Amino acid sequence: MKTRVRFVALGGGQEVGASCYFLQINEWNILLDCGKAPHLAPQFSFILRPPFLESLRQINHIFISHSHYDHVGELVYLASACTQGSIYATPITKALIAYLFWDMGATYLGAKTSRQQEYEEIRIKTAISSIIAEGYCRPIPLPGYTVTFYEAGHIPGAAMVHIKTPDRSILYTGDFSCQPSALTPSYILPHGLQFDTIIMCGLHAKHPSHTAARINRQTRLLMKSIHKKLEAGYSVYLETAQLTKAWEVLQVINDAMEKNSLPTVPVYIDRYLLSLAENMERMNVRVLKPWNHAGPGTVPGLWIGRKDPKAFYTLPNMQGYTKKVDFSLHPTYRELKHFILTYNPKTVILVHTGDDVEGAANCLEAELMACAACRSQFIYAEHGEIYTI
Ligand SMILES: [Zn+2]
Repeated sequence: MKTRVRFVALGGGQEVGASCYFLQINEWNILLDCGKAPHLAPQFSFILRPPFLESLRQINHIFISHSHYDHVGELVYLASACTQGSIYATPITKALIAYLFWDMGATYLGAKTSRQQEYEEIRIKTAISSIIAEGYCRPIPLPGYTVTFYEAGHIPGAAMVHIKTPDRSILYTGDFSCQPSALTPSYILPHGLQFDTIIMCGLHAKHPSHTAARINRQTRLLMKSIHKKLEAGYSVYLETAQLTKAWEVLQVINDAMEKNSLPTVPVYIDRYLLSLAENMERMNVRVLKPWNHAGPGTVPGLWIGRKDPKAFYTLPNMQGYTKKVDFSLHPTYRELKHFILTYNPKTVILVHTGDDVEGAANCLEAELMACAACRSQFIYAEHGEIYTI
């Protein structure tokens, strides 16, 4: 029997935030990711109607690509609503989710009183313990199809999700990266794998002239400027855009100090980052070095070179130096194009796309249509639309 596949974006279609995609393979109901953003949540009403579901209890499987909040923020709700569904993630993603919700979850979920907090903590604990941890490249046999996680780069634990039926091969990329960073390799797919359909997180798919701040170049420049400042007798405070990016920067700094390309001075790190790094040490993702110490309270960031980071704020400006650090952990427009040409699937479903700031919404499709080697058809998935693929 030919496999019937239907796809609906519940959130994170032509926007970033609340990534959650419904995939129906014959009678099997699957969710890919379950994200949330401050003012965005997946719209389950799109599938709680004919021809789909009467209740979320009919969801069979949920696969989580990685631990960023816009891909996993709705987990606690879904774990209690999808009572018949199994939730899968890689072991590192499971650990990072636990960290994300334990440290910030009860507040995120709106608990105000200690009783509400207690209740939310039980829900969080239940949700996390229900995640089945599966490593990369280990096929998960499920009735009707097989699922395999592959390394996606982006952040530690991130996975591409490959779904295989007897006659279909579908890849959900999740967020991925095409170049290695200090903490992760680029995505790794086994040689010879082919896909009919790629559901692709394409943050820069509508940004042909966007030149992403390439992580390796950015961090090299950053190390140079830290070196200069330390040599001139300054301390350096680094303000990072995201916890996982702070983790990445810590690894880069520690590598540089180990190789003596940066003087070895104390590096103080904020409480969240320290807790994350300590958790990961237990899972053999080793980042911490003897010169890393707990920083002051919860102020996010890294302090380099001063014995007491609290003093940083009281020093005259000339002795301290603050730098905002940001870089992209996503493929550039060109890398997305190259990825599609490499696998040349019949269908590309684009999701998680950034705003069309350049007035170039369909340029990736237009460019590839002009390419004789490309056979792909494009779907720019709109929320609630049903696509039979
Ligand atoms: Zn992400």
